[in-house]
Amino acid sequence: MAKEIPYKIYLKEDEIPKQWYNVRADMKNKPAPLLNPGTGKPMTLEELSVVFCEELAKQELNVTDPWVDIPEEIQNFYKMYRPSPVVRAYCLEKALDTPAHIYYKFEGNNTSGSHKLNSAIAQAYYAKQQGLKGVTTETGAGQWGTALSMACSYFDLDCQVYMVKVSYEQKPFRREVMRTYGAKVTPSPSMETNVGRKINEEFPGTTGSLGCAISEAVEAATSQEGYRYVLGSVLSQVLLHQTIIGLETKAALDKYEVTPDIIIGCAGGGSNLGGLISPFAGEMVRGEKNYRIIAVEPASCPSLTRGSYVYDFCDTGKVCPLAKMYTLGSGYIPAPNHAGGLRYHGMSSIVSQLYDDGFIEATSVKQTDVFAAAQQFARVEGILPAPESSHAIKVAIDEALKCKETGEAKNIVFGLTGTGYFDMVAYQKYNDGVMDDYMPTDEEIAASLAQCPKV
Ligand SMILES: *Cc1c(COP(=O)(O)O)cnc(C)c1O
Repeated sequence: MAKEIPYKIYLKEDEIPKQWYNVRADMKNKPAPLLNPGTGKPMTLEELSVVFCEELAKQELNVTDPWVDIPEEIQNFYKMYRPSPVVRAYCLEKALDTPAHIYYKFEGNNTSGSHKLNSAIAQAYYAKQQGLKGVTTETGAGQWGTALSMACSYFDLDCQVYMVKVSYEQKPFRREVMRTYGAKVTPSPSMETNVGRKINEEFPGTTGSLGCAISEAVEAATSQEGYRYVLGSVLSQVLLHQTIIGLETKAALDKYEVTPDIIIGCAGGGSNLGGLISPFAGEMVRGEKNYRIIAVEPASCPSLTRGSYVYDFCDTGKVCPLAKMYTLGSGYIPAPNHAGGLRYHGMSSIVSQLYDDGFIEATSVKQTDVFAAAQQFARVEGILPAPESSHAIKVAIDEALKCKETGEAKNIVFGLTGTGYFDMVAYQKYNDGVMDDYMPTDEEIAASLAQCPKV
């Protein structure tokens, strides 16, 4: 007989994975390499190390080792807030009256309130090991900046955060959490960097974008001695660190002999989704198993479902290497009334390749539907979800309702990446009924894509 499944499945502390899983090693079609925008040639370790910490640059280029040891200091930090639980959503199942079994992996149980701490602590560790003074970064909604400022204060590193202006203004509390952890927070585009001044001139009054903030943070890193730039999403190194999510999920489900039928994750830059699905996608690319994997993105920033798979800049200022990815064009700025996070124009090259090879499906959802799902979930499961995570909730609910029609008891697993306590301006808009669902036209997307470099 199958074992009774508890509300929460926790691994024991000594069962937390001690290695990250690098799915690229098992992929037959590797993600395309990062290119130097000047020469059009693949970025070398030396070139990447000007911008990134050296060990992280090595991880970025590593497409051969399937397993990467997690240094002991990072393992110990993980023990402060991991393992995170896999929760059986019994109450949601009951509310939906579905035969489906719904599970979610909850990453909101730390002060930063999201999965981003998993990579922040790794990146701060490698920066410290290299003897750097500090790091610079961008943050959109603020979760990454918060996670990084926590990680930097743990290792006594200076932390400079360029925060997308609209979030800086809408989320003063996030900003103050970062400052409490000792970070310097600057609204982007700022007048402090060349690229910020240029963007402000070109787009007066702009509310900013992740792409702009990245350009500024890179310039700040390369113009100060002893600093490097770190990024909280999109890069393969980040996705590698986030595989702790998927490895824990798989180990927890294996204990109860639960095999997922459907795995769902929200997709901004693709790091939580990639981290959650990597061990499962690994089985798929090795031809061992099959799962339905669904990436969920906002209808207002639909890189997988409406973008093109081409080489593009990772940032608006065009200072970063070129990455081949599903993209809307590096100049794409989602409408300012888009409140739900996941604002990045491109997608992780690993997720992009898996999607292009048919291992992943993608769908996009409207933000009012996302907040309706968030509210429904909060009311029955207790957790107030981040808007980003709620994209996955929305599709998990839809899939569970389909099971109700067919009578199938599918196992649905989704990533609940974080909590939404700092997103109450967005919740307020939804509660007041003044949230709308702006979607870009085909012409807008085509115009933005036309700016992609010809490689
Ligand atoms: C940053 C963030 C995301 C999106 O980033 P990915 O790199 O796509 O994972 C999703 N959920 C939360 C809570 C986040 O903070």
